[in-house]
Amino acid sequence: MFCGSSAGRSPHYREAAARLGTLLAERAIGLVYGGASVGLMGAVADAALAGGGEVIGVLPEGLFDREVAHPGLSELVLVGSMHERKARMAELADGFLALPGGIGTLDELFDIWSWAQLGLHAKPIGLLDLGGFFQPLLTFLDQQVREGFVHPSHVALATVDDDLPRLLDRLQGGFGRSAPAGLAPKA
Ligand code: AMP
Repeated sequence: MFCGSSAGRSPHYREAAARLGTLLAERAIGLVYGGASVGLMGAVADAALAGGGEVIGVLPEGLFDREVAHPGLSELVLVGSMHERKARMAELADGFLALPGGIGTLDELFDIWSWAQLGLHAKPIGLLDLGGFFQPLLTFLDQQVREGFVHPSHVALATVDDDLPRLLDRLQGGFGRSAPAGLAPKA
């Protein structure tokens, strides 16, 4: 799962992040995420753990103090760099889900999206479009398609939905399996 290390202005973001954590635990989908205790990242992890779910955090060792490691994770994987973090999360996850976030969230999302475009993986990618959060980004992708830089089929590699249970259902073939191995979106 990819999402903000900030919580956003509206309380709705944190509420939705907590709903996601609860739902993942209910569906026995393991969560893989950046390992922090702050922002939406912390909210998803807290709720997943509270629901008895498996949560794996992948955190760069000593890189910064801002993203304090979550103390209650099922497993904390310490890595040496941001590049390694993305790679480990991608390996561990069976699918990817982006929630609202900042530049880091976009970096992680587009890395995974571009790898899918190159055929380097075939794991599902979802965008939880809370309150239309991702619409301006999708408008820009339309512009890239119109101007001949992106093939429409590559935009379609990501599933966009504003309804969390429905989005998980739509991605289910990829990461809703029984294993707790998870959603890097196992986040
Ligand atoms: P943000 O959306 O900016 O709040 O960041 C969300 C998460 O992405 C945070 O855990 C950031 O540390 C992480 N992040 C930011 N840039 C990168 C990067 N280049 N590689 C891996 N993770 C990153």
